[in-house]
Amino acid sequence: MNYPINKPFLPNFAAYQAQLESIYQRNWLTNNGPCVQALEQQLTDYLGVEYLLLVSNGTVALQLAYAALGIQGAVLTTPFSFAATASTLCWEKLTPQFIDIDASTYNLDVSLITAEQAAKASAILGVHVFGNPCDVIAIDEFAEQNQLKVIYDAAHAFASPVGDKSALCFGDAATLSLHATKLFHSVEGGAIIFKDKATYLKAKQMVNFGFDAEQFPEYVGINAKMSEVHAAMGLCVLNEFEQVLTHRQTLVQEYQRLLSGVVQLQQWHADGLNNGAYMPVVLPSEMELQRVSATLLERGIQTRRYFYPSLSQVPAYGQCGVTPVANDISKRILCLPLYTDLTLDGVREICDALTTILAEGNR
Ligand SMILES: *Cc1c(COP(=O)(O)O)cnc(C)c1O
Repeated sequence: MNYPINKPFLPNFAAYQAQLESIYQRNWLTNNGPCVQALEQQLTDYLGVEYLLLVSNGTVALQLAYAALGIQGAVLTTPFSFAATASTLCWEKLTPQFIDIDASTYNLDVSLITAEQAAKASAILGVHVFGNPCDVIAIDEFAEQNQLKVIYDAAHAFASPVGDKSALCFGDAATLSLHATKLFHSVEGGAIIFKDKATYLKAKQMVNFGFDAEQFPEYVGINAKMSEVHAAMGLCVLNEFEQVLTHRQTLVQEYQRLLSGVVQLQQWHADGLNNGAYMPVVLPSEMELQRVSATLLERGIQTRRYFYPSLSQVPAYGQCGVTPVANDISKRILCLPLYTDLTLDGVREICDALTTILAEGNR
């Protein structure tokens, strides 16, 4: 068996080659070129969002969102995420205040935020973990009552609905990562979806050194521009995305069918639909996780501890906040192989192996 944890999706090569030929003919390689403009338009339509800005990666997308919204001081966030959620705050000289997660959805539990914590903070930074939308209604309500801005690290939440809307429609800003390993990608890339037009226009200048139409640096900016060759890849992947999404959703449904009652599975938002981005399972203990992942690897099945450690346990991120649930889940969670090339038979083989290994441990 040979099942990697992930494998980037590559679109039809001839289609990408045709895009590259057009780029050669135009000799317009970056600075808001035709491919970037086309991808922005197509993503805006596909996702049903309003103000979408493409950038060079999902990390700088978060940093730009904080800067454009003028976030300062403490930010209430989840410890159960990828490093970039907390590191971008620290990089922007903001203070992550970690709030614990819900034990079944793995998302930030807004009911745990104290009045004192809310009073000291300027924003909530939620993460739609593994694509599962946060309780966006409760977070909105709490933010409004406490005059907090809301930002979502929506790196996993491409094509993840809440009711009849995209999860990306929630928050003052939501950010995407379009990294090669993500559900939808442009090799490297990212996007920010803003609620408000003025903030979007400000961020659009910030992406290009803060320049206005006369090349005057109106804001402190950065270089976060997406290039034409990256946008061209995005256009080609988007062209095939419906098949990718449907197939991955089928794979996840099969995983869930075979593993329900065997391991703990993530509880999804009641008004959502699993977008097939990740396949996390929670094991009874960290020791069992280590045994299971090592034995799976011997059989050619790669897994990944995702997310470990809990970000509230990382000295470099300040360790502000008591988060027993996140600390516990992060020690026991494992992601199983999930990629577009994987087949239903592959999922069955992986589930067989996992079920057998777990039963051996119980003897
Ligand atoms: C991938 C990821 C990022 C970072 O995105 P890049 O495009 O790799 O910079 C941020 N947050 C989360 C939750 C991610 O999974």
